[in-house]
Amino acid sequence: MDDGLDRGGSKDLRRLTPALKFLRPYTRQVVYASIALVVTAAATLSLGQGIKLVIDSGFASGDSDVLVDSISLFVAFVLVLTLGTFVRFYFVSWVGERISADIRRAVFSHLLHLHPGFFETNLPSEIQSRITTDTTLLQTVIGSSVSIALRNVLMFFGGTTLLFFTNAKLSLIVVASVPFVVFPVIYFGRRVRQLSRISQDRLADVGSYAGESLRHIKVVQAFNHQPIDEETFGERVDAALAVSIKRIYQRSVLVAIVMLLVFGAVATMLWVGGQDVLAGKTTAGDLAAFIFYAFIVAGSVGAISEVLSDLQRAAGATERLIELLESPSDIIEKADAGDLASKRVSLALQNVEFSYPSRAETKVIDGVSFSIEPGEMVALVGPSGSGKSTLFDLIQRFYEPDRGAITMNGNELGDLKLSAVRGAVGFVPQDAVLFSGSIRDNLIYAQADASDEDIATALDLAHARQFVEDLPAGLDTRMGEDGVGLSGGQRQRLAIARALLCEPAILLLDEATSALDAESENHIRMSIEGLKGQMTILVIAHRLSTVRQADRILVLEQGRVIDSGSHDELMRSSELYARFAKIQFAA
Ligand code: ATP
Repeated sequence: MDDGLDRGGSKDLRRLTPALKFLRPYTRQVVYASIALVVTAAATLSLGQGIKLVIDSGFASGDSDVLVDSISLFVAFVLVLTLGTFVRFYFVSWVGERISADIRRAVFSHLLHLHPGFFETNLPSEIQSRITTDTTLLQTVIGSSVSIALRNVLMFFGGTTLLFFTNAKLSLIVVASVPFVVFPVIYFGRRVRQLSRISQDRLADVGSYAGESLRHIKVVQAFNHQPIDEETFGERVDAALAVSIKRIYQRSVLVAIVMLLVFGAVATMLWVGGQDVLAGKTTAGDLAAFIFYAFIVAGSVGAISEVLSDLQRAAGATERLIELLESPSDIIEKADAGDLASKRVSLALQNVEFSYPSRAETKVIDGVSFSIEPGEMVALVGPSGSGKSTLFDLIQRFYEPDRGAITMNGNELGDLKLSAVRGAVGFVPQDAVLFSGSIRDNLIYAQADASDEDIATALDLAHARQFVEDLPAGLDTRMGEDGVGLSGGQRQRLAIARALLCEPAILLLDEATSALDAESENHIRMSIEGLKGQMTILVIAHRLSTVRQADRILVLEQGRVIDSGSHDELMRSSELYARFAKIQFAA
């Protein structure tokens, strides 16, 4: 994954700051949580004094009333602690969930408006995992790790102060042992982090392999490819497992070493402190309180080192999410962009040149000029790869031409609102893309307020009404993802109906060669005949019937318009067209 987007964690925790922007709406909840955080930390630290009180005043005094008082105080501490913990936990988790939801929404909204080319270099499957896993990571961190870290920082400083306050000599033993704990934590912690990054990458490999195979399950099974897939998948799972086990080992070593050192220090303290108690230099309550604080301090160091890696991973996740959120779109709408005044739209290309950014050296469109009057029907013909679909992309402003201009009613596309350009165009792609949902959902995709009458008219025009009515639930028949459950020809006709429902000024039709049977094709031909004159039609034609219908034919070869005219004219005048027509339209 060398797209620069997957970099695991980040050492620099400042990278988390962009996420703070998302905290702002929830200041109130953050304040509640912070107050609870300070209160619980203070209450926990006070518990040490409570223990001291119970042991020294309660037990030592031999007076049961004092014991009752001490225990009552202790119970009050515990109550405050319980309530504070509830408030802190609830609000911190609440904020974490909210923020991850907000970030998900913000990233998705931003992505929806990016230029389509962005998704050629940044694979949608990877982005999808980033929206889910990276935001989940951030949610864990904001919803727990940050609060754990802050609580333990408070506990560390409070505990250390109280340690010295309780017994300075013993405290020095604790302080002296700190480097012995911290060094292995840092050393092994780093290795654990490196390994968890590699492990994430391996896991992503596993996920993408499974996704691809299952999406194309018919091809997998048709070629009896299962054994190979099982083996390759198994290898990837094993690779992920191997890294995870290495990580678990390092982590176990880390935990064991920390335990050993911490309890070694505690034993030393007990030994030294116990002697002081025996000698009457300190009280048993003081020693108990001291040990309590020592545990708190050691525990806080442990907890901070634990969540530090979470925080670093979250910093990496934030960086990647912000990178997505700040990716600029290559297609920019001008501040003063206008609308198209008329529903009748002419289209013109002047000397348009274009290369795909990923293949800058190849001119896919090489100086194309033509214009189409409102209501005119023009057919584009040309060999595969000559740039026909690319022209459609340029007309919808999915890409910007490198040179030349594309205009609608004389306005350059760049001077029009994107919604105006795309609203003027009804696009029927060659592979009719439908979404999961009902047929009605798909038809009203761009026209949410369409009436049943409008839908019926559009279905009639696309010759799709009969088959929709024949379906068990009619318009409300639900389809799987990508329109699973319908034939290619049915999908194609629904795509046409969807485009017509918006009453577009310009119809861009990428004619499917194979999806339609002769009868449906004939009906669609008649529909187009009916639309002629009402809207500007540009059709990528694969059939003689369509070509004959067009007012004009443009012959495209290697990104250039080499001839134009009617079918009969071109058959006479253009040797290339004649040759092409003979092969293409032979059937
Ligand atoms: P067909 O009839 O087979 O659909 P076409 O005439 O519509 O072909 P285009 O899809 O416009 O051809 O492709 C024109 C050229 O641009 C081809 O050589 C193709 O390889 C290249 N091309 C298409 N899409 C991209 C892309 N996203 N990035 C780089 N090159 C591309």
